[in-house]
Amino acid sequence: MSDWEDEYDGDGVAIQKPAAKSAPIERKMSLDYRQGQNVHFGVRRCGRFGSEGAANVSGEGSQSKWWRDGGNRGGFAQRRTFDNLKSDSSRPVTFTVENAVVGRIIGRGGAKIRELEESSGAKIKINKGDYEGEVAIFGQSAAQQKAKEMIEDLVADGGSRFSYGMKHYDGGSDGVRNSSVWSSAELEAAKVVSAPPPIDWNTIRENKDKYEELKWKDLPPLKKKFYIEAESVSMLSAEEVSEWRKENNNIFVDDLKEEGQKRHIPNPCRSFLEAFELYPEIMENIDRVGFVKPTPIQSQAWPVLLSGEDLIAIAQTGTGKTLAYLLPGFIHMDGQPVPRDERGGPGMLVLTPTRELALQIETECNKYRYKGYKSICIYGGGDRRGQIKLVKGGVDIVIATPGRLNDLQMNELINLRSITYLVLDEADRMLDMGFEPQIMKILLDIRPDRQTVMTSATWPTGVRRLAKSYLKNPMMVYVGTLDLAAVSTVQQTVLIVHEEEKKSYVFDFIRNMLPLDKVLIFVGKKLMADDLSSDMCLQGLAVQSLHGDREQCDREEALKDFKESRVRILVATDLASRGLDVHDITHVFNFDFPRNIEEYVHRVGRTGRAGRSGAALTLVTRDDWRNAPELIPILERAGQEVPEELILMAERYEKHKREKDLCNPKGGHERGGGRQGGGGGGGRRGAGGGGWGRRDGGGRGGRDCGQHWGF
Ligand code: AMP
Repeated sequence: MSDWEDEYDGDGVAIQKPAAKSAPIERKMSLDYRQGQNVHFGVRRCGRFGSEGAANVSGEGSQSKWWRDGGNRGGFAQRRTFDNLKSDSSRPVTFTVENAVVGRIIGRGGAKIRELEESSGAKIKINKGDYEGEVAIFGQSAAQQKAKEMIEDLVADGGSRFSYGMKHYDGGSDGVRNSSVWSSAELEAAKVVSAPPPIDWNTIRENKDKYEELKWKDLPPLKKKFYIEAESVSMLSAEEVSEWRKENNNIFVDDLKEEGQKRHIPNPCRSFLEAFELYPEIMENIDRVGFVKPTPIQSQAWPVLLSGEDLIAIAQTGTGKTLAYLLPGFIHMDGQPVPRDERGGPGMLVLTPTRELALQIETECNKYRYKGYKSICIYGGGDRRGQIKLVKGGVDIVIATPGRLNDLQMNELINLRSITYLVLDEADRMLDMGFEPQIMKILLDIRPDRQTVMTSATWPTGVRRLAKSYLKNPMMVYVGTLDLAAVSTVQQTVLIVHEEEKKSYVFDFIRNMLPLDKVLIFVGKKLMADDLSSDMCLQGLAVQSLHGDREQCDREEALKDFKESRVRILVATDLASRGLDVHDITHVFNFDFPRNIEEYVHRVGRTGRAGRSGAALTLVTRDDWRNAPELIPILERAGQEVPEELILMAERYEKHKREKDLCNPKGGHERGGGRQGGGGGGGRRGAGGGGWGRRDGGGRGGRDCGQHWGF
């Protein structure tokens, strides 16, 4: 009688090896199974039992691993014998399986193989070779057969990738199988079997879908439709709707479904009551903050969002876009079938590019009290531990920058499964800042049937791609980027200067400031922000600076000082051009011209807010000439004076561009996908904003250029 010692290796798999005091392995391995001795079979990949039931063994077995049941989970060696096998009347049934399925048969810590043995009454041994595992089943033939079938079922469950992985040899049942030697045909077949299978993409895709299905299968129900159109809205004729949209910033609305499948776009709500008559708590909030009527984006976004549709809002800060998605979000959260305290996490997530914007959205959110919803702002540079504590304490709305949220997500500090209403705010900016990978990772954990809103100031390819991947059949509302023609309250002055004159212009301006003036000075580089603000400090001026290299607390302090008028001069990079909501800025001073014309509009839009008048002064050097053709129509549409030098500059640039295009006909000038061709081929006065990309105004040529709007 010989003893064997089983132990589990690190993977929870039993490895059989000779007990320390047992006889040399060679002797054991030469024992004849028929004589009731222990056997070690399958040590060669091709080895098997002969027709007479003689175990075919070889010395190679000493290198192989044996898996057996009954191993100790805790890693303790356990002695066991195979004496019981001696009395088995049938010869072992053996077959090979792919190594990939061996673990499945053994199960965690040997649990599966034990279960198979218990259910069948047979004993099972597996020898894992280089490519395949050999399974031997001992016991009464009925038990052997049962165990074999169970293993077959188990292996077959693994899907098609295992179907080729099983070869059957009934140990001598036909009485003719003999040998440890494969026929040449079998060897050929074995080669085919062991060749790495081609990648089966279809199965991978199917598996992915199955995995997705599995991942989301236990989700609670979701409700998205909360809109009952007011009678006064339903009664509007198509002409009235079209007229109203035209008069309200020339709103453009579209369904991004294919031509022929487009749905009816809800009529706009012209008053708060038309949108929220059914929601008195919302109406109370609006009355409290004292807004008179919805902004154009709100009028059109509310009915779409309350109807449960996904929405792309091409709008920027200052248009009322935050409230456009917040209020339907409140109603959506409140209307979910699962009660709030059973959701186990927040219901709304707003992803936003910068901390400033995140804080501003939070402020906006806190203005409206709805059902006691709590919001939290999660951004890099802020107090991480504090943010985690707040999340754990339970919040309804998370406003976050993608980097920090992804950090909390990866560390499982936040549950995103409960989110049913998602906002990707300023998507173009988030992409510009390189947040796409983080956004992708975040969205992996948010249920796919959520409602999604995306806002963006522009509609370039990257944003379209994002929209296509993450929104389902969205509708689109476009109010254009800030419409300067409508912001007639901003007086815009452009000065053509030399680079070295800029400082004297800005100091001149400051010297002439009136006591209640408040100026936001934009520069192109962080270094310049520091340089200029320290120059001003040295001259005894109260000034603050805002740029990405400053500590978060310093940035917050700078903004606070400026908002609360402790300083009246703020020098900033474009970090502050969006999202900065300080109502009483009287002047914007563009010390450096922005990197593109959209940014110009954002910057200028920081003044002249909330019905106040404002002024913008822009220094333009010859290095900025590429912006001249696009700047001119903006000034014209806002009824501003266009300096002759700017016109000459634009003409020079257009000429230069034409010459360059002639040399390089394929060299495009694509910028901001929503544009309509950068000035319409150089006709600076011909397009009434053609270079600006709004689909309104003269020369627009209609809204039917689907390729600009479609994905
Ligand atoms: P936003 O475009 O979301 O950054 O909003 C800019 C500012 O407009 C915020 O201070 C809002 O509180 C304010 N606002 C939003 N909706 C309205 C409205 N309907 N009427 C007047 N102001 C509004």
